[in-house]
Amino acid sequence: MPFVDGRSNLNSATQLLLAAVSGVPEHLLEDSKVLPQKGNLLRFPWYGKSGGGGAFVMGRCVYMSGHFFDRNNSGIGLKDDLSTLLLIAHEVGHLPHSARFRNNRLGQVRFISWAAGIYVLSFLQNGGHWHRKAWIEQEADRGRWVLGKLITPLRATIESDLLVPLRTNDVDAVNVWLIDRKAMIAELHAAYPGWE
Ligand SMILES: [Zn+2]
Repeated sequence: MPFVDGRSNLNSATQLLLAAVSGVPEHLLEDSKVLPQKGNLLRFPWYGKSGGGGAFVMGRCVYMSGHFFDRNNSGIGLKDDLSTLLLIAHEVGHLPHSARFRNNRLGQVRFISWAAGIYVLSFLQNGGHWHRKAWIEQEADRGRWVLGKLITPLRATIESDLLVPLRTNDVDAVNVWLIDRKAMIAELHAAYPGWE
């Protein structure tokens, strides 16, 4: 399965890539799961607007809208395309926000009201751009932005050089790919504007 293992945890190769582009601590990536959104009945006003649409973080889980899944040989699985990967790269940026709260029902309620307060404040300051300009969105979008800039010039080779290793959990291949681009990744982190 692409990006995740049989228990819906991010596979090791994907964790390695996302840690490098997002700066999210490894233990949060290791503990997280990527699940279809229908598994969680909660609805948020900001759901559907984050980094390409259709995902949110709750507790230690990234819930993705159903259109990021399709039927494959082993049942229902995540689509293994770049737009899915880029959205995951955004969503994992919310794991440190969620991790400020306990991973139980009360903690999740507190997380929702905390995030809602930030979006309301952003609305007062930024009007129609309230979602994109909320500081938690700008913080979360680092991984998607860095990864997007990194792969833009590499589209021709991205399937064989990155997507296949992520799909097959080839940690060594992803590690070599990242080492080759270490300086570029550092430059992109330094250049991240936080408002795109
Ligand atoms: Zn977001």
